[in-house]
Amino acid sequence: MANAYDVLIIGAGVVGNAIARELSRYRLNVGVLEKELDVGMGTSSRNSGVVHSGIHYKPGTLRAKLNVLGNELMAGLCRDLKVKIQYIGKLTVAQDQVDIETLEALKAQGEANGVPGLEIIDVERMQQIQPGVGGIRALHSPTTGIICPYGLTIALADNARENGVDFHLGSRVTGISKKEDGFQVKTAGGGSFESKVLINAAGLYSDAICKMLGLSEYTLYPCRGEYLILDKRLNGSLSVLIYPAPRKGSAGLGIHLTNTVDGNILIGPSNEYVDHADDYACTADIIDQLKKEGRELLPAISTSDFIRGFSGLRPKQAPPSVKGFKEFVIESRKDIPGFINLVGIESPGLTCSPAIALMVRDMVGEKLPLEEKGLFVAERSGFPGSFHDLPEEEKADLVAQDPDYGEIVCRCEQITKREILAAIENPLGSRTMAGIKYRSRAMMGRCQGGFCMPRIVQILERDFGYRPEDYRLYSPDSYLFTGRVR
Ligand SMILES: Cc1cc2nc3c(=O)[nH]c(=O)nc-3n(C[C@H](O)[C@H](O)[C@H](O)COP(=O)(O)OP(=O)(O)OC[C@H]3O[C@@H](n4cnc5c(N)ncnc54)[C@H](O)[C@@H]3O)c2cc1C
Repeated sequence: MANAYDVLIIGAGVVGNAIARELSRYRLNVGVLEKELDVGMGTSSRNSGVVHSGIHYKPGTLRAKLNVLGNELMAGLCRDLKVKIQYIGKLTVAQDQVDIETLEALKAQGEANGVPGLEIIDVERMQQIQPGVGGIRALHSPTTGIICPYGLTIALADNARENGVDFHLGSRVTGISKKEDGFQVKTAGGGSFESKVLINAAGLYSDAICKMLGLSEYTLYPCRGEYLILDKRLNGSLSVLIYPAPRKGSAGLGIHLTNTVDGNILIGPSNEYVDHADDYACTADIIDQLKKEGRELLPAISTSDFIRGFSGLRPKQAPPSVKGFKEFVIESRKDIPGFINLVGIESPGLTCSPAIALMVRDMVGEKLPLEEKGLFVAERSGFPGSFHDLPEEEKADLVAQDPDYGEIVCRCEQITKREILAAIENPLGSRTMAGIKYRSRAMMGRCQGGFCMPRIVQILERDFGYRPEDYRLYSPDSYLFTGRVR
Protein backbone atom coordinates (compact mmCIF):
# COMPACT_ATOMS: atom_id res chain seq x y z
CA MET A 1 0.00 0.00 0.00
CA ALA A 2 1.29 3.51 -0.85
CA ASN A 3 2.05 5.58 2.23
CA ALA A 4 2.73 2.44 4.33
CA TYR A 5 6.07 2.61 6.12
CA ASP A 6 8.12 0.57 8.55
CA VAL A 7 8.98 3.79 10.36
CA LEU A 8 7.27 7.18 10.25
CA ILE A 9 8.92 10.20 11.83
CA ILE A 10 6.81 13.23 12.73
CA GLY A 11 8.89 16.41 12.40
CA ALA A 12 11.73 17.33 10.03
CA GLY A 13 13.85 19.37 12.41
CA VAL A 14 17.46 18.49 13.10
CA VAL A 15 16.40 15.64 15.42
CA GLY A 16 13.86 14.03 13.06
CA ASN A 17 16.26 14.38 10.12
CA ALA A 18 19.22 12.94 12.04
CA ILE A 19 17.05 9.93 12.95
CA ALA A 20 15.85 9.59 9.33
CA ARG A 21 19.39 9.69 8.02
CA GLU A 22 20.60 7.13 10.57
CA LEU A 23 17.72 4.76 9.77
CA SER A 24 18.41 5.11 6.04
CA ARG A 25 21.45 2.84 6.57
CA TYR A 26 19.09 -0.12 7.03
CA ARG A 27 16.60 -2.09 4.96
CA LEU A 28 13.69 -0.08 6.30
CA ASN A 29 11.02 1.88 4.54
CA VAL A 30 11.18 5.29 6.27
CA GLY A 31 8.94 8.35 5.85
CA VAL A 32 9.03 11.80 7.43
CA LEU A 33 5.92 13.96 7.92
CA GLU A 34 6.50 17.70 8.20
CA LYS A 35 3.81 20.35 8.52
CA GLU A 36 5.83 23.11 6.82
CA LEU A 37 6.79 23.21 3.14
CA ASP A 38 10.46 22.66 3.97
CA VAL A 39 12.59 21.01 6.61
CA GLY A 40 14.11 22.88 9.57
CA MET A 41 11.60 25.71 9.76
CA GLY A 42 11.12 25.35 13.55
CA THR A 43 13.64 25.57 16.39
CA SER A 44 16.39 23.97 14.31
CA SER A 45 16.91 27.10 12.23
CA ARG A 46 16.34 29.52 15.12
CA ASN A 47 19.15 28.98 17.59
CA SER A 48 22.73 29.97 18.43
CA GLY A 49 24.34 27.27 16.30
CA VAL A 50 26.73 26.26 19.07
CA VAL A 51 28.13 22.75 19.35
CA HIS A 52 28.24 22.62 23.13
CA SER A 53 31.03 20.80 24.95
CA GLY A 54 28.89 19.23 27.71
CA ILE A 55 29.78 21.22 30.86
CA HIS A 56 26.26 22.30 31.73
CA TYR A 57 24.50 19.06 32.59
CA LYS A 58 24.60 16.77 35.60
CA PRO A 59 26.78 13.67 35.16
CA GLY A 60 24.74 10.60 34.32
CA THR A 61 21.86 12.50 32.77
CA LEU A 62 20.79 11.89 29.20
CA ARG A 63 21.60 15.48 28.27
CA ALA A 64 25.16 15.15 29.55
CA LYS A 65 25.82 11.83 27.78
CA LEU A 66 24.17 12.82 24.49
CA ASN A 67 25.86 16.24 24.52
CA VAL A 68 29.40 14.86 24.86
CA LEU A 69 28.81 12.08 22.33
CA GLY A 70 27.04 14.46 19.92
CA ASN A 71 29.94 16.91 20.13
CA GLU A 72 32.36 14.11 19.20
CA LEU A 73 30.21 12.76 16.35
CA MET A 74 29.53 16.16 14.82
CA ALA A 75 32.98 16.60 13.22
CA GLY A 76 32.73 13.43 11.08
CA LEU A 77 29.08 14.04 10.28
CA CYS A 78 29.79 17.57 9.03
CA ARG A 79 32.71 16.32 6.95
CA ASP A 80 30.47 13.75 5.25
CA LEU A 81 27.59 16.16 4.76
CA LYS A 82 29.72 19.17 3.73
CA VAL A 83 28.36 21.34 6.55
CA LYS A 84 30.40 24.23 7.94
CA ILE A 85 31.68 23.64 11.50
CA GLN A 86 34.52 25.18 13.50
CA TYR A 87 35.65 24.06 16.97
CA ILE A 88 36.69 27.55 18.13
CA GLY A 89 36.31 27.11 21.91
CA LYS A 90 34.40 29.07 24.51
CA LEU A 91 35.14 31.33 27.48
CA THR A 92 32.57 31.26 30.28
CA VAL A 93 33.40 34.47 32.09
CA ALA A 94 33.25 35.23 35.84
CA GLN A 95 32.65 38.78 37.05
CA ASP A 96 32.87 38.10 40.82
CA GLN A 97 33.71 35.47 43.44
CA VAL A 98 30.28 33.79 43.21
CA ASP A 99 30.83 33.37 39.47
CA ILE A 100 34.29 31.86 40.07
CA GLU A 101 32.71 29.19 42.29
CA THR A 102 30.21 28.54 39.48
CA LEU A 103 33.09 28.08 37.02
CA GLU A 104 34.81 25.61 39.34
CA ALA A 105 31.59 23.63 39.68
CA LEU A 106 31.12 23.67 35.90
CA LYS A 107 34.68 22.46 35.36
CA ALA A 108 34.24 19.56 37.80
CA GLN A 109 30.90 18.69 36.21
CA GLY A 110 32.33 18.84 32.69
CA GLU A 111 35.25 16.61 33.65
CA ALA A 112 32.87 14.09 35.19
CA ASN A 113 30.99 14.11 31.88
CA GLY A 114 34.21 13.43 29.96
CA VAL A 115 34.68 16.89 28.41
CA PRO A 116 38.37 17.21 27.45
CA GLY A 117 40.72 20.18 27.90
CA LEU A 118 38.79 22.27 30.46
CA GLU A 119 40.83 24.95 32.18
CA ILE A 120 40.11 27.91 34.46
CA ILE A 121 42.25 30.77 33.20
CA ASP A 122 43.28 34.17 34.57
CA VAL A 123 42.91 37.61 33.04
CA GLU A 124 46.24 37.45 31.22
CA ARG A 125 45.36 34.19 29.42
CA MET A 126 41.86 35.50 28.75
CA GLN A 127 43.34 38.55 27.01
CA GLN A 128 45.66 36.33 24.95
CA ILE A 129 42.71 34.27 23.74
CA GLN A 130 40.32 37.20 23.27
CA PRO A 131 41.82 40.69 23.61
CA GLY A 132 39.47 43.13 25.36
CA VAL A 133 37.23 40.52 27.01
CA GLY A 134 35.88 41.66 30.42
CA GLY A 135 35.77 39.55 33.61
CA ILE A 136 38.22 38.29 36.24
CA ARG A 137 38.46 34.56 35.38
CA ALA A 138 37.10 32.30 32.68
CA LEU A 139 36.47 28.62 32.07
CA HIS A 140 38.00 27.72 28.70
CA SER A 141 36.31 24.81 26.90
CA PRO A 142 38.29 24.16 23.70
CA THR A 143 35.86 21.58 22.25
CA THR A 144 32.97 24.04 21.95
CA GLY A 145 32.22 24.76 18.30
CA ILE A 146 29.99 26.64 15.90
CA ILE A 147 27.96 25.14 13.10
CA CYS A 148 25.41 26.24 10.52
CA PRO A 149 22.25 24.84 12.19
CA TYR A 150 19.92 25.04 9.18
CA GLY A 151 22.76 23.84 6.93
CA LEU A 152 23.04 20.70 9.06
CA THR A 153 19.27 20.17 9.17
CA ILE A 154 18.95 20.47 5.38
CA ALA A 155 22.05 18.31 4.73
CA LEU A 156 20.74 15.50 6.96
CA ALA A 157 17.47 15.52 5.03
CA ASP A 158 19.14 15.69 1.61
CA ASN A 159 21.36 12.74 2.50
CA ALA A 160 18.46 10.77 4.00
CA ARG A 161 16.51 11.40 0.79
CA GLU A 162 19.48 10.21 -1.29
CA ASN A 163 19.39 7.04 0.79
CA GLY A 164 15.72 6.42 0.14
CA VAL A 165 13.77 8.25 2.86
CA ASP A 166 10.49 9.87 1.70
CA PHE A 167 9.81 13.41 2.91
CA HIS A 168 6.16 14.47 2.94
CA LEU A 169 6.32 18.24 3.29
CA GLY A 170 3.21 20.29 3.98
CA SER A 171 1.77 17.27 5.86
CA ARG A 172 0.61 18.33 9.31
CA VAL A 173 -0.29 15.38 11.53
CA THR A 174 -3.82 15.90 12.84
CA GLY A 175 -4.74 12.49 14.26
CA ILE A 176 -3.20 9.12 15.15
CA SER A 177 -4.94 5.77 15.74
CA LYS A 178 -3.21 2.79 17.27
CA LYS A 179 -3.79 -0.37 15.21
CA GLU A 180 -3.04 -3.97 16.19
CA ASP A 181 0.50 -3.83 14.82
CA GLY A 182 1.24 -0.22 14.17
CA PHE A 183 -0.33 3.17 13.60
CA GLN A 184 -2.56 5.05 11.23
CA VAL A 185 -1.65 8.70 10.89
CA LYS A 186 -3.90 11.36 9.38
CA THR A 187 -2.49 14.58 8.00
CA ALA A 188 -3.89 17.86 6.77
CA GLY A 189 -2.58 18.27 3.24
CA GLY A 190 -0.77 14.97 2.78
CA GLY A 191 -3.37 12.21 3.18
CA SER A 192 -3.24 9.17 5.43
CA PHE A 193 -0.21 7.02 6.37
CA GLU A 194 0.51 3.74 8.11
CA SER A 195 3.58 2.62 9.99
CA LYS A 196 4.86 -0.13 12.27
CA VAL A 197 6.97 2.28 14.31
CA LEU A 198 6.02 5.91 14.93
CA ILE A 199 8.56 8.47 16.14
CA ASN A 200 7.46 11.74 17.67
CA ALA A 201 10.10 14.39 16.88
CA ALA A 202 7.64 17.27 16.59
CA GLY A 203 9.61 19.72 18.74
CA LEU A 204 7.38 22.43 20.18
CA TYR A 205 4.30 20.36 19.29
CA SER A 206 5.49 17.00 20.59
CA ASP A 207 3.11 17.32 23.57
CA ALA A 208 0.22 17.74 21.10
CA ILE A 209 1.31 14.56 19.28
CA CYS A 210 1.34 12.73 22.66
CA LYS A 211 -2.22 13.87 23.30
CA MET A 212 -3.31 12.37 19.95
CA LEU A 213 -2.30 9.01 21.44
CA GLY A 214 -3.98 9.68 24.77
CA LEU A 215 -0.79 10.60 26.64
CA SER A 216 -1.57 13.63 28.75
CA GLU A 217 1.50 13.71 31.04
CA TYR A 218 3.53 16.14 28.94
CA THR A 219 3.00 19.87 28.56
CA LEU A 220 5.45 22.17 26.83
CA TYR A 221 5.91 25.85 27.63
CA PRO A 222 7.44 27.83 24.75
CA CYS A 223 10.19 30.11 25.97
CA ARG A 224 11.34 32.67 23.43
CA GLY A 225 14.94 33.64 22.80
CA GLU A 226 15.45 36.76 20.70
CA TYR A 227 18.64 37.58 18.81
CA LEU A 228 20.20 40.44 16.91
CA ILE A 229 22.41 39.69 13.90
CA LEU A 230 25.47 41.88 13.39
CA ASP A 231 27.01 42.94 10.11
CA LYS A 232 30.01 40.99 8.80
CA ARG A 233 32.11 44.14 9.30
CA LEU A 234 32.75 42.79 12.80
CA ASN A 235 33.84 39.36 11.52
CA GLY A 236 37.09 38.48 13.24
CA SER A 237 36.33 40.61 16.33
CA LEU A 238 35.81 37.43 18.33
CA SER A 239 38.10 34.43 18.22
CA VAL A 240 36.06 32.41 20.74
CA LEU A 241 32.51 32.27 22.07
CA ILE A 242 31.96 34.40 25.17
CA TYR A 243 29.27 33.47 27.69
CA PRO A 244 28.58 34.88 31.16
CA ALA A 245 28.79 32.45 34.10
CA PRO A 246 25.23 31.08 34.42
CA ARG A 247 23.04 32.52 37.16
CA LYS A 248 20.69 30.41 39.26
CA GLY A 249 17.09 30.11 38.01
CA SER A 250 17.87 31.32 34.49
CA ALA A 251 15.90 29.54 31.74
CA GLY A 252 18.88 29.65 29.33
CA LEU A 253 22.65 30.14 29.31
CA GLY A 254 22.53 33.93 29.43
CA ILE A 255 22.89 36.54 26.68
CA HIS A 256 26.11 35.98 24.82
CA LEU A 257 27.98 36.83 21.65
CA THR A 258 28.16 34.00 19.19
CA ASN A 259 30.25 33.89 16.06
CA THR A 260 28.55 32.19 13.17
CA VAL A 261 30.32 30.06 10.58
CA ASP A 262 29.26 32.60 7.94
CA GLY A 263 30.95 35.56 9.60
CA ASN A 264 28.08 37.35 11.35
CA ILE A 265 27.97 37.69 15.14
CA LEU A 266 24.74 36.99 17.05
CA ILE A 267 23.75 38.76 20.27
CA GLY A 268 21.28 36.80 22.39
CA PRO A 269 19.24 34.88 23.21
CA SER A 270 16.83 36.41 25.71
CA ASN A 271 14.47 34.33 27.87
CA GLU A 272 10.78 35.02 27.89
CA TYR A 273 7.95 32.52 28.29
CA VAL A 274 5.23 33.13 25.68
CA ASP A 275 1.71 31.74 25.22
CA HIS A 276 1.96 30.34 21.70
CA ALA A 277 4.38 27.91 20.06
CA ASP A 278 4.49 30.05 16.92
CA ASP A 279 5.07 33.44 18.51
CA TYR A 280 8.37 34.38 16.87
CA ALA A 281 8.00 38.10 17.53
CA CYS A 282 10.97 40.36 18.12
CA THR A 283 10.13 43.01 20.70
CA ALA A 284 11.40 46.57 21.17
CA ASP A 285 12.33 46.12 24.85
CA ILE A 286 14.39 43.01 24.25
CA ILE A 287 16.08 44.54 21.20
CA ASP A 288 17.16 47.50 23.35
CA GLN A 289 18.42 45.11 26.06
CA LEU A 290 20.39 43.07 23.50
CA LYS A 291 21.96 46.19 22.04
CA LYS A 292 23.01 47.37 25.50
CA GLU A 293 24.39 44.02 26.69
CA GLY A 294 26.04 43.34 23.33
CA ARG A 295 27.92 46.64 23.51
CA GLU A 296 29.07 45.85 27.05
CA LEU A 297 30.65 42.63 25.73
CA LEU A 298 31.94 44.13 22.46
CA PRO A 299 32.26 47.94 22.60
CA ALA A 300 33.16 48.16 18.86
CA ILE A 301 29.50 47.56 17.89
CA SER A 302 27.94 50.62 16.22
CA THR A 303 24.25 51.25 15.51
CA SER A 304 24.62 50.50 11.80
CA ASP A 305 26.00 47.03 12.62
CA PHE A 306 22.58 45.68 13.65
CA ILE A 307 21.18 43.96 10.53
CA ARG A 308 18.00 42.36 11.86
CA GLY A 309 16.48 40.32 14.68
CA PHE A 310 15.03 36.84 14.85
CA SER A 311 13.75 34.57 17.59
CA GLY A 312 13.50 30.89 18.47
CA LEU A 313 11.31 29.04 20.96
CA ARG A 314 12.60 26.57 23.54
CA PRO A 315 10.21 23.62 24.05
CA LYS A 316 10.45 23.80 27.84
CA GLN A 317 8.99 21.20 30.15
CA ALA A 318 9.64 23.45 33.16
CA PRO A 319 6.75 25.93 33.56
CA PRO A 320 7.40 29.67 34.04
CA SER A 321 6.97 29.33 37.82
CA VAL A 322 9.85 26.80 37.97
CA LYS A 323 12.19 27.77 35.09
CA GLY A 324 15.50 25.93 34.64
CA PHE A 325 16.06 22.73 32.66
CA LYS A 326 14.32 19.36 32.74
CA GLU A 327 15.73 16.12 31.41
CA PHE A 328 15.01 15.19 27.78
CA VAL A 329 12.28 12.60 27.33
CA ILE A 330 13.44 9.95 24.83
CA GLU A 331 11.39 6.82 25.45
CA SER A 332 10.12 3.70 23.76
CA ARG A 333 6.61 3.45 25.24
CA LYS A 334 5.80 0.06 26.69
CA ASP A 335 2.11 1.00 26.94
CA ILE A 336 2.01 1.92 23.22
CA PRO A 337 4.31 -0.61 21.54
CA GLY A 338 6.13 0.88 18.56
CA PHE A 339 5.78 4.48 19.74
CA ILE A 340 9.09 6.27 20.29
CA ASN A 341 8.55 9.57 21.98
CA LEU A 342 10.84 12.61 22.14
CA VAL A 343 9.66 15.54 24.24
CA GLY A 344 11.38 18.67 25.52
CA ILE A 345 14.43 18.51 23.27
CA GLU A 346 15.63 22.01 24.04
CA SER A 347 19.28 23.06 24.15
CA PRO A 348 21.65 21.32 23.49
CA GLY A 349 19.39 19.37 21.11
CA LEU A 350 21.26 20.54 18.03
CA THR A 351 24.56 19.23 19.43
CA CYS A 352 22.93 16.03 20.68
CA SER A 353 21.13 15.24 17.41
CA PRO A 354 23.63 12.67 16.03
CA ALA A 355 23.73 10.91 19.41
CA ILE A 356 19.93 10.99 19.76
CA ALA A 357 19.73 9.36 16.33
CA LEU A 358 21.85 6.43 17.54
CA MET A 359 19.76 6.04 20.69
CA VAL A 360 16.50 6.05 18.71
CA ARG A 361 17.97 3.63 16.14
CA ASP A 362 18.55 1.14 18.97
CA MET A 363 14.95 1.59 20.11
CA VAL A 364 13.73 0.94 16.55
CA GLY A 365 15.97 -2.16 16.55
CA GLU A 366 14.00 -3.61 19.47
CA LYS A 367 10.91 -3.61 17.27
CA LEU A 368 12.23 -4.16 13.71
CA PRO A 369 15.29 -5.99 12.35
CA LEU A 370 18.16 -3.62 11.52
CA GLU A 371 19.83 -5.10 8.45
CA GLU A 372 22.38 -2.85 6.79
CA LYS A 373 21.59 -2.02 3.16
CA GLY A 374 25.13 -2.08 1.91
CA LEU A 375 24.28 0.77 -0.46
CA PHE A 376 24.23 3.55 2.12
CA VAL A 377 25.92 6.70 0.80
CA ALA A 378 27.32 8.55 3.81
CA GLU A 379 28.62 11.53 1.86
CA ARG A 380 26.24 14.12 0.55
CA SER A 381 26.60 14.32 -3.19
CA GLY A 382 25.70 17.08 -5.59
CA PHE A 383 26.01 19.92 -3.10
CA PRO A 384 28.01 22.61 -4.91
CA GLY A 385 29.16 24.49 -1.76
CA SER A 386 29.74 28.23 -1.78
CA PHE A 387 31.06 29.78 -5.01
CA HIS A 388 32.21 32.84 -3.07
CA ASP A 389 34.63 30.75 -0.95
CA LEU A 390 36.43 29.23 -3.96
CA PRO A 391 39.87 30.36 -5.21
CA GLU A 392 39.72 32.82 -8.15
CA GLU A 393 40.98 30.28 -10.74
CA GLU A 394 38.28 27.78 -9.77
CA LYS A 395 35.67 30.50 -9.99
CA ALA A 396 36.88 31.43 -13.48
CA ASP A 397 36.73 27.78 -14.59
CA LEU A 398 33.18 27.43 -13.31
CA VAL A 399 32.03 30.62 -15.04
CA ALA A 400 33.57 29.35 -18.28
CA GLN A 401 31.66 26.06 -17.92
CA ASP A 402 28.38 27.60 -16.80
CA PRO A 403 27.54 31.31 -17.36
CA ASP A 404 24.99 31.16 -14.48
CA TYR A 405 28.01 31.22 -12.16
CA GLY A 406 28.92 34.56 -13.72
CA GLU A 407 25.72 36.30 -12.63
CA ILE A 408 25.67 37.57 -9.05
CA VAL A 409 22.06 37.67 -7.82
CA CYS A 410 22.62 38.43 -4.12
CA ARG A 411 25.16 41.25 -3.94
CA CYS A 412 25.58 41.23 -0.16
CA GLU A 413 26.47 37.54 0.11
CA GLN A 414 27.81 37.26 -3.46
CA ILE A 415 25.47 34.42 -4.40
CA THR A 416 25.32 33.44 -8.07
CA LYS A 417 22.35 32.51 -10.20
CA ARG A 418 23.66 28.92 -10.41
CA GLU A 419 23.52 28.66 -6.59
CA ILE A 420 19.97 30.04 -6.56
CA LEU A 421 18.98 27.46 -9.19
CA ALA A 422 20.63 24.67 -7.14
CA ALA A 423 18.66 25.82 -4.08
CA ILE A 424 15.41 25.80 -6.06
CA GLU A 425 16.16 22.35 -7.52
CA ASN A 426 16.98 20.78 -4.12
CA PRO A 427 16.59 16.99 -3.62
CA LEU A 428 13.53 17.42 -1.36
CA GLY A 429 11.55 19.35 -3.98
CA SER A 430 10.86 22.22 -1.59
CA ARG A 431 10.40 25.58 -3.28
CA THR A 432 9.76 28.27 -0.71
CA MET A 433 11.48 31.64 -0.34
CA ALA A 434 12.80 30.63 3.10
CA GLY A 435 14.11 27.38 1.62
CA ILE A 436 16.01 29.27 -1.11
CA LYS A 437 17.38 31.62 1.53
CA TYR A 438 18.59 28.89 3.91
CA ARG A 439 20.05 26.78 1.09
CA SER A 440 21.86 29.53 -0.81
CA ARG A 441 22.28 32.36 1.76
CA ALA A 442 20.72 34.80 -0.72
CA MET A 443 18.57 37.37 1.17
CA MET A 444 20.69 36.87 4.32
CA GLY A 445 23.01 39.82 3.86
CA ARG A 446 22.90 43.46 4.85
CA CYS A 447 19.97 44.36 2.62
CA GLN A 448 17.95 41.30 3.70
CA GLY A 449 16.70 40.60 0.19
CA GLY A 450 15.96 44.21 -0.83
CA PHE A 451 18.00 43.82 -4.02
CA CYS A 452 17.96 40.08 -4.74
CA MET A 453 14.46 39.02 -3.78
CA PRO A 454 12.79 40.63 -6.86
CA ARG A 455 15.37 38.88 -9.05
CA ILE A 456 14.68 35.52 -7.34
CA VAL A 457 10.95 36.06 -7.82
CA GLN A 458 11.67 36.68 -11.51
CA ILE A 459 13.77 33.48 -11.81
CA LEU A 460 10.93 31.47 -10.26
CA GLU A 461 8.45 33.05 -12.67
CA ARG A 462 10.53 32.75 -15.86
CA ASP A 463 12.37 29.48 -15.32
CA PHE A 464 9.86 27.60 -13.16
CA GLY A 465 6.53 29.01 -14.32
CA TYR A 466 5.53 30.45 -10.95
CA ARG A 467 2.25 32.36 -10.76
CA PRO A 468 1.63 34.94 -7.99
CA GLU A 469 -0.29 32.40 -5.86
CA ASP A 470 2.64 29.92 -5.96
CA TYR A 471 5.05 31.98 -3.86
CA ARG A 472 5.21 30.98 -0.17
CA LEU A 473 7.50 31.98 2.67
CA TYR A 474 7.62 28.53 4.32
CA SER A 475 4.15 27.41 5.45
CA PRO A 476 1.33 26.13 3.24
CA ASP A 477 -0.61 29.33 3.99
CA SER A 478 2.26 31.85 4.00
CA TYR A 479 1.45 33.47 0.65
CA LEU A 480 3.79 36.22 -0.48
CA PHE A 481 1.68 37.98 -3.08
CA THR A 482 -1.89 36.70 -2.74
CA GLY A 483 -4.24 35.69 0.08
CA ARG A 484 -3.32 35.85 3.73
CA VAL A 485 0.39 36.46 4.40
CA ARG A 486 1.86 33.98 6.98
C1 LIG B 1 16.99 30.25 21.44
C2 LIG B 1 17.56 28.87 21.28
C3 LIG B 1 18.93 28.66 21.23
C4 LIG B 1 19.46 27.38 21.10
N1 LIG B 1 20.80 27.23 20.98
C5 LIG B 1 21.32 26.00 20.81
C6 LIG B 1 22.71 25.81 20.63
O1 LIG B 1 23.46 26.77 20.51
N2 LIG B 1 23.19 24.55 20.55
C7 LIG B 1 22.38 23.46 20.66
O2 LIG B 1 22.90 22.35 20.65
N3 LIG B 1 21.04 23.60 20.78
C8 LIG B 1 20.50 24.84 20.84
N4 LIG B 1 19.15 25.01 20.94
C9 LIG B 1 18.30 23.83 20.94
C10 LIG B 1 18.07 23.28 19.54
O3 LIG B 1 17.81 24.31 18.62
C11 LIG B 1 16.89 22.30 19.60
O4 LIG B 1 17.11 21.38 20.63
C12 LIG B 1 16.71 21.54 18.30
O5 LIG B 1 16.68 22.41 17.20
C13 LIG B 1 15.42 20.74 18.39
O6 LIG B 1 15.22 20.13 17.15
P1 LIG B 1 13.89 19.33 16.88
O7 LIG B 1 14.08 18.65 15.59
O8 LIG B 1 13.54 18.52 18.07
O9 LIG B 1 12.75 20.45 16.82
P2 LIG B 1 12.27 21.38 15.61
O10 LIG B 1 13.39 21.96 14.87
O11 LIG B 1 11.28 22.34 16.19
O12 LIG B 1 11.55 20.38 14.64
C14 LIG B 1 10.27 19.86 14.89
C15 LIG B 1 9.54 19.81 13.57
O13 LIG B 1 8.28 19.19 13.78
C16 LIG B 1 7.35 19.82 12.92
N5 LIG B 1 6.01 19.56 13.44
C17 LIG B 1 5.47 20.00 14.59
N6 LIG B 1 4.20 19.55 14.71
C18 LIG B 1 3.95 18.80 13.62
C19 LIG B 1 2.80 18.09 13.16
N7 LIG B 1 1.66 18.06 13.85
N8 LIG B 1 2.90 17.42 11.98
C20 LIG B 1 4.04 17.44 11.23
N9 LIG B 1 5.14 18.14 11.63
C21 LIG B 1 5.09 18.79 12.79
C22 LIG B 1 7.76 21.29 12.99
O14 LIG B 1 7.25 22.04 11.90
C23 LIG B 1 9.26 21.19 13.00
O15 LIG B 1 9.82 21.29 11.70
C24 LIG B 1 18.59 26.28 21.04
C25 LIG B 1 17.20 26.48 21.06
C26 LIG B 1 16.69 27.77 21.14
C27 LIG B 1 15.21 27.99 21.10
